Amino acid sequence: MESSGYRRKFYIESYGCQMNFADSEIVASILNDNGFGATGNYEEADLVLLNTCSIREKAEQTVRNRLQLFRQIKEHRPGMLIGVLGCMAERLKGKFLEEEQLVDIVVGPDAYRTLPGLIGEAETGQKAVNVLLSREETYADISPVRLDSNGVTAFVSIMRGCNNMCSFCVVPFTRGRERSRDAASIVRECRELFSKGYKEVTLLGQNVDSYYWMDEASDTVVTFAGLLEKVAQIDPALRVRFSTSHPKDITDEVLYTIARYPNICKYIHLPVQSGSTRVLQLMNRTYTREWYLAKIDRVRSILPDCGLSTDIIAGFCTETEEDHQESMSLMEYARYDMSYMFFYSERPGTLAARRYQDDVPEEIKKRRLDEIVRLQNRLSQQKNREDLNKTFEVLIEGDSKKSADDWRGRNSQNKVVVFPKADHPYRKGDYVQVKVNDCTGATLIGTIIE
Ligand code: SAM
Ligand code: SF4
Repeated sequence: MESSGYRRKFYIESYGCQMNFADSEIVASILNDNGFGATGNYEEADLVLLNTCSIREKAEQTVRNRLQLFRQIKEHRPGMLIGVLGCMAERLKGKFLEEEQLVDIVVGPDAYRTLPGLIGEAETGQKAVNVLLSREETYADISPVRLDSNGVTAFVSIMRGCNNMCSFCVVPFTRGRERSRDAASIVRECRELFSKGYKEVTLLGQNVDSYYWMDEASDTVVTFAGLLEKVAQIDPALRVRFSTSHPKDITDEVLYTIARYPNICKYIHLPVQSGSTRVLQLMNRTYTREWYLAKIDRVRSILPDCGLSTDIIAGFCTETEEDHQESMSLMEYARYDMSYMFFYSERPGTLAARRYQDDVPEEIKKRRLDEIVRLQNRLSQQKNREDLNKTFEVLIEGDSKKSADDWRGRNSQNKVVVFPKADHPYRKGDYVQVKVNDCTGATLIGTIIE
């Protein structure tokens, strides 16, 4: 982050999904153009922004606690402005200003272009709010300013919003209707990243498989498979990842495209949410257990060495012990390398909050989640042990967290690999061949093979 040359300083903290982190980089670009440089120290900032998440109650509580801290700082620095961005801003709108008196600016995810005007309003002492959602906004023309970047990997947003209406989920309400970004602008952004030395892009959307862009100039449609191909063709040395896939939408065409290009990473995040068809129906996921299992088989047959991960929710409305066992048995079948595991948190305004009772007691939700976590730990250990003695191509992302004598990177399957630098002349951003000789549940440990 570089703040020299700017008249004023902003500090931004991001919470929640990767989309939010990508959005903060768009916000940073808009602010740079308006005389604000980024700082990593909130004590010296003229503008403090929190890019918030509403997905679970706990995420919102974290933000409220953080705001308490900024309240104290503002007491000593009354000129400092505090803004709330993202999903929580969209969900609570003007209520934020009543509940959290110290907040000056509230901006929803589709209104970031208006931030400079809102800052101007707030500077005159008024409270400034814009939470209008849009059917068109994709920020396609804005070049994100990379924050906290390792200079090797970057997120690229390819679409916004979601049309799926999973009954537990607040995203369709906070991020609006689904819309895809101009394919040419995505390819341009990825090409620019590569020319600056980046070696990996992750294409982001809530449901990437429903990406759809009509290229009017050539009168052709770009699907997600087509987009993946275009990005993969930029350079064989640019890795391509993507997130998130919806099991109902991921196509064979996407799987075959992944198989065709060595630089499209062999890794799919395929959230299942529950292993019970009855619960999946209540969740409005529109697939059954059997459909999901068939997808897993398809992935394994087309991409035998593909890494697989999931999201799973314990204790959704009416979930019985049998439903829970079905989630566990599905996990055993899929043998996920990794999972994001949650217990159900009712969100105001969602279909589930309106239609169903949040009737699984908290201690049962937590016990089931604990069983799921323990099962996943066992699966991750097993999967990692299967990689012992294998050699992988690893992209070096930087020093290992524990020691500057070791590199840290990831293989195509998205597993973290740590290995000694030894006397090799490699640098961050290089690809190296690493043979795995040890592992923990979360990390492969190896040595460089020349
Ligand atoms: N669009 C992606 C998808 O459909 O998988 C991810 C959306 S969300 C940001 C990430 C994960 O949060 C979901 O996959 C789900 O497992 C979890 N989640 C969403 N709403 C939740 C809720 N009300 N309670 C607990 N977990 C929730
Ligand atoms: Fe939420 Fe479902 Fe959309 Fe994912 S696909 S963002 S879980 S509504």
